[in-house]
Amino acid sequence: MYRALYFEKLEDNLVRCTLCPRECVIKPGNRGFCRAKENHAGELYSTIYAEVSSSAIDPIEKKPLYHFCPGSTILSIGTIGCNLRCKFCQNWHIAHIQAPTRRRSGRELVNEALHNDTIGIAYTYSEPLIWYEYILDTSKKVKEAGLKNVLVTNGLIHRKPLEELLSYIDGVNLDIKAFTEKFYDEVCGGKDYFNYVKETAKVVSKACHLEVTTLLIPGLNDDPDELQELAYWLAELNPDIPLHLNRYFPNYQMDLSPTTVESMLMAKEIAEEYLHYVYLGNVADADRTTYCSECHYPVVKRDWFVEVDLNGECCPECGTVISLILS
Ligand code: SF4
Repeated sequence: MYRALYFEKLEDNLVRCTLCPRECVIKPGNRGFCRAKENHAGELYSTIYAEVSSSAIDPIEKKPLYHFCPGSTILSIGTIGCNLRCKFCQNWHIAHIQAPTRRRSGRELVNEALHNDTIGIAYTYSEPLIWYEYILDTSKKVKEAGLKNVLVTNGLIHRKPLEELLSYIDGVNLDIKAFTEKFYDEVCGGKDYFNYVKETAKVVSKACHLEVTTLLIPGLNDDPDELQELAYWLAELNPDIPLHLNRYFPNYQMDLSPTTVESMLMAKEIAEEYLHYVYLGNVADADRTTYCSECHYPVVKRDWFVEVDLNGECCPECGTVISLILS
């Protein structure tokens, strides 16, 4: 096991994990809420360092990142455990049950990423932030090899470790699960965490490329006023932040009917009042094209292949700068 980087020692060999806002106080021999940290004789250790439950070479668009190296592939890896308990979890088979893992060193993964001609490594599938020690070490090796690091996360982390990690991260897809504290509290098992996630979005938006994903669940987080607030708040950070609105289907402990396509289209229309780039996920035949925000010229077409049509960083039709990282 690998010694954790963020914790405090307390009396009677108790420790407090200070990586994420749960701040679990852990007795000797016990684990924190996420199952990724264990107290051994008054010291905290990561139980999942280098333990990989899933890996695949994915198109970057699958993360989803649409404005970051379009058309490229990335080695995607995940571990086990999570610091939230979302009732609709899409990755419950690795987040909430003891899935098998395989030890993979950071060097091995970098070699795999290079060998497969990918742009780097994405830490994804289950929650990567609880894998903190390993992704910090691996992301340094990835940068040394001239590759990129991508984080797909729920954003639940304290600011100090976040800033330390972001020095090595190139792109983030942040899950904003809803725009109310009530939803985080009642549906995600995380009281008072909404503000932490907003803080993460602010910090990330200044540090590297950011895209946001929200899974829309009927009656729980798809109210037009709430969507308007989310889009308005994101636009205040930067109206060029791409927002991915994903359609919910029943999963894990949630059996509500799927979100209707009509609601998804309405949500997109609301968000587009404030944001330049809004995309629908899990909706058959949804338009995945990136259009110039000024003249509506299709600058990135995504079908079987991804086609980028830019003049440098600009729309070839009207010259507007398109917020997009090409390489
Ligand atoms: S990272 Fe895990 S152990 Fe640490 S505070 Fe968060 S949930 Fe608890």
